Amino acid sequence: MSAPLPPKPSTQPPQHAALTQFPVLDDSLHIGGMALERLAQRVGQTPFYAYDRSSLSARVAALRLHLPPQLQLHYAMKANPMPAVVQLMAGMVDGIDVASHGELKIALDAGMSPERISFAGPGKSAADLSRAIAAGVMLNLESEHEMERAAETGQRLGLRPVVAVRVNPDFELKSSGMKMGGGPKPFGVDAERVPAMLQRCAALGLDWRGLHIYSGSQNLKPEALHEAQSKTLALAQRLAADAPSALQVLNMGGGFGIPYFPGEARLNLEVVGANLRRLLDQARTELPGTEFVIELGRYLVGEAGAYVCRVVERKISRGQVYLVTDGGLHHHLAASGNFGQVIRKNYPVVIGNKVHGGPRETASVVGPLCTPLDLLADNLPLAQAEAGDLVVVLQSGAYGLSASPAGFLGHPAALEVLV
Ligand SMILES: *Cc1c(COP(=O)(O)O)cnc(C)c1O
Repeated sequence: MSAPLPPKPSTQPPQHAALTQFPVLDDSLHIGGMALERLAQRVGQTPFYAYDRSSLSARVAALRLHLPPQLQLHYAMKANPMPAVVQLMAGMVDGIDVASHGELKIALDAGMSPERISFAGPGKSAADLSRAIAAGVMLNLESEHEMERAAETGQRLGLRPVVAVRVNPDFELKSSGMKMGGGPKPFGVDAERVPAMLQRCAALGLDWRGLHIYSGSQNLKPEALHEAQSKTLALAQRLAADAPSALQVLNMGGGFGIPYFPGEARLNLEVVGANLRRLLDQARTELPGTEFVIELGRYLVGEAGAYVCRVVERKISRGQVYLVTDGGLHHHLAASGNFGQVIRKNYPVVIGNKVHGGPRETASVVGPLCTPLDLLADNLPLAQAEAGDLVVVLQSGAYGLSASPAGFLGHPAALEVLV
């Protein structure tokens, strides 16, 4: 008997996930129902970020369809703090998670009621604490010292702070883009110290409501999410058993990822939702009165946004095509590969006014900054483009403009529109 043949090596290099969130009509990308060049005229300049309302609401609808109905959906607004986006999200989600008093102001301005806002983040300033306590939002305490400071601030203001304790779990979300728990961490209180802290919360007269357990981010594997969620519930049950009062709220983190790089596929939300349903049904008996919350950032907004810049010059250096654009890492650090990536990979990039194009070629897209780091696409197959064409970086609705060094090199700022 002959040994089975080894699988045929794939001749196709890994591809970006298919573009499904924006229609392509007459070979032009349409965002917010408008052909891209017309949208650029309507905005009045390039570069700009465009966020699409219908994609945002479609994403919330998909989550509502697949996640268990009792699970509260929060928006972690650091993913995209544009006030118009936060306002739109505020009308669709059950709560907003903020991480600075600047974000708190935007969430309150957007009309989110303070009981539905929680405030996490290490190193909260005196201004963060007093504004959050005066607003009546839930403080996610990140240390014992912060707990004492919150209690003092409450006394000074004559208010009883509403608090949760952020736990640094004794596990992590496996195969995540960014690990936020397990081992030593600047976030939260080590799980083994939480029981004593909850006693102290009660002694200080703080209005303790719950636990916040966030174990990671940017995950595309339902099994990894399921494992982390199941450990989160087990840890919460253990901590709740010793707590001086009932666990009212469990924020079980999020971590749902979106496909950025070649070879990555969209998360199977049906499977994630079915797993969560089973877990929450089991948890019901041990934590009967607890409200469960999931907090998502990029999964809610990341696929709904595009960064648009214009080709200034098509340049050939020793046979390599460079599209030099008016946009770059000063607006979109993440697409340049300098926001947390270990090995630089290309975001999905298209020529927005000729998506398929006529002749295609391999080109690199660069910005106007005098640094080799200013690279939006490295040797990517694209429609052949000329000066005046529009380059679009997809998957750019999260950690875009607000996560970029706008002041670096003094080029003009990008605009943002919600369409
Ligand atoms: C950043 C952050 C999030 C959002 O992460 P995404 O990967 O954008 O979903 C959620 N919760 C906390 C505590 C965070 O710090």
